[in-house]
Amino acid sequence: PETIVVQELANRMAERAADVVKSLMKMGVMATMNQSIDADTAELVIEEFGHKMVRVSDADVEQVIEQVADDPQDLQPRPPIVTIMGHVDHGKTSLLDAIRKANVVSGEAGGITQHIGAYQVTTESGAVLSFLDTPGHAAFTSMRARGANVTDIVVLVVAADDSVMPQTIEAINHARAAKVPMIVAINKCDKPAADANKVRTELLQHEVVVEAMSGDVQDVEVSAVTGAGLDQLLEAIALQAEILELQANPDRSAMGAVIEAQLDVGRGPVATVLVQNGTLRQGDIFVVGEQWGKVRALQNDQGERVKEAGPSVPVEVLGLNGTPEAGDVLNVVDTEAQAREIAEYRQEAAKDKRAAAGAATTLEQLMAKA
Ligand code: GDP
Ligand code: MG
Repeated sequence: PETIVVQELANRMAERAADVVKSLMKMGVMATMNQSIDADTAELVIEEFGHKMVRVSDADVEQVIEQVADDPQDLQPRPPIVTIMGHVDHGKTSLLDAIRKANVVSGEAGGITQHIGAYQVTTESGAVLSFLDTPGHAAFTSMRARGANVTDIVVLVVAADDSVMPQTIEAINHARAAKVPMIVAINKCDKPAADANKVRTELLQHEVVVEAMSGDVQDVEVSAVTGAGLDQLLEAIALQAEILELQANPDRSAMGAVIEAQLDVGRGPVATVLVQNGTLRQGDIFVVGEQWGKVRALQNDQGERVKEAGPSVPVEVLGLNGTPEAGDVLNVVDTEAQAREIAEYRQEAAKDKRAAAGAATTLEQLMAKA
């Protein structure tokens, strides 16, 4: 993950390091001048001081692809994309598994569902939610650094038998930097030592005021082990999504973000893509990062072959000419010639950038004072 030393950050902003340390303290981050903080925390500090952070992305290259703005009339509601974050061992994976299991339509005996990095569930009230199956702050940060904002709602998991921990604070900062609303899931409420109110009080110190404390951040007591509260959590997410009025245009050529990709021995390069706008169809020609391809097959989160995938739908894409990277953006284009040209242009640009970077640190690329 991208980090920067506090002193260095202060230098770049032409501020006193002591003032930066003080500002961090206010955010609940205890760091000395010589310690490193992550990029999202740095962004909050930068904003606090009235500066602007520039994340170097493929912005220059993206201009190659013309993004046609959607006519508001063509927009339709789309499911929210949800990321679960929190301190290690507070139950992120358990929660993701419990939510998935509760919603798997038991088809095949044994119900062997393939892991594709994201999945969709339907709540009791009929709302569809897309979960990113990659808990972890590094993924969230690196995707954002690459220009892919693939989270609409963050579920912050805090174990009721533990406390607000460093990675809890980091997650809060990530969500804030990305301006993504949070829902607090107070997990492990089945444990005798559970004390949900202690968690709520501790969150106050980080300016997360939950509804139970008369704030506006929804909080739900859950247990990934017993399944208690999971339905309420899903409905809380659905409610938050409604407030956000998330929309997309299913009737345009698709764009999406790569969640994960690998070279599969039997199938060649495979990418799991979260469609963000438009509809991705079999036969579509696309560029994705420095790669391009033509959709040979699409597979949904249940491992079934599908002909198309609309907004917020995670899908496994076959038919790539190379393996893209997580965070790469996929755009459908008209012709193979176009796809190839853009991919080659990007490969060249990336080569130049790597050469130019030379001795420069990644952070110098990541941050610039505006
Ligand atoms: P992660 O590191 O945040 O992904 O946490 P895990 O999902 O791996 O959970 C860490 C440990 O806590 C595991 O031993 C889980 O079985 C346990 N755990 C997770 N959720 C619960 C819960 O709701 N109740 C209880 N009793 N244990 C839980
Ligand atoms: Mg885990």
